[in-house]
Amino acid sequence: MYAKAVVRATKQSGGKKPVLRRLTARIDRYDYRLDLESRMLILKIHNGREVKLRLLTSTERVEKFRGWSNYEIAVKIVEDEVYVSVYFRRAVKPRRTRTVMTIDVNFDNATLAVFALSGELLKLKRFKTPLRKILTHRIWIERIQRRYSRSWRFIRGIRRAIRRHGERIRSIAWDYAHKIGDKIAELVAEHSSTIVLENLSNLRSNVNRSNSFNKKLSLWFYRRIQFTISYEALERGLLVRYVNPGKTSSTCPRCGSRLEDSGSRVLRCGRCGLAGDRDVIACVNLFYRYLRCGVLGVTLNAPKPDENPSGMRRKEMRR
Ligand SMILES: [Zn+2]
Repeated sequence: MYAKAVVRATKQSGGKKPVLRRLTARIDRYDYRLDLESRMLILKIHNGREVKLRLLTSTERVEKFRGWSNYEIAVKIVEDEVYVSVYFRRAVKPRRTRTVMTIDVNFDNATLAVFALSGELLKLKRFKTPLRKILTHRIWIERIQRRYSRSWRFIRGIRRAIRRHGERIRSIAWDYAHKIGDKIAELVAEHSSTIVLENLSNLRSNVNRSNSFNKKLSLWFYRRIQFTISYEALERGLLVRYVNPGKTSSTCPRCGSRLEDSGSRVLRCGRCGLAGDRDVIACVNLFYRYLRCGVLGVTLNAPKPDENPSGMRRKEMRR
């Protein structure tokens, strides 16, 4: 839960402006009291003094976390406002899963595929990402900064324009991440799927070194989506697993050879002749990688080569 509270206390007690502009502190259980009924947060400070903060959050959110246990808060001070993040936790009973959902996200599309453990493709869905939209805001920011390369930091109107584009970017990304997170959670619950996502921890350093802004943007966005997906999944007691994402969109899922690009997002294998949509192939590869990793020590029957997911050969896909 993220709650925002405005401190009136600071001004009343001496009226001095805080020297630090940004300050974040984690506060443990003993140094505050949280009363969800009255939505008050009481922070204990030196000399037995207390600061009372009213949590500015919706009833809905308070209701949601009522049965959870709160264990920590973080307080952040930005200029003369105080932001409080309240952390809650709850034990979740894992559900039995019957299928596997893999999710591939690239610059244009987010593709998700639900597989039976036999390898049969049960469902395929594709969403457009908002990254092109985000990119136009990003280009605006860069254009402004280039034009006023020396002075933009000092001119208020320009600073504000840049901030506005930045806010748009963040809200587009959050909106989308929540929307897709909800949809995925719905599908996953319906199919009782284990969710397989790309493990991005190794990827990050490579991409950050590369100059491609689009790649960085895709990665940043994927992280955001991953966060909402894993949250929604966990809340429903569904498992999330991470697999190595290397070369998932360039390896033949049938024979392991390198795939060639034959235009309009179709990839073709020179060795075994497999052809398929790039995003779907990435999803299939994630699925195989997950199977190969094994699930909790259980060996799964690897699908036979002729049991390739049924969507693989379909070239035209709805967009
Ligand atoms: Zn092949």
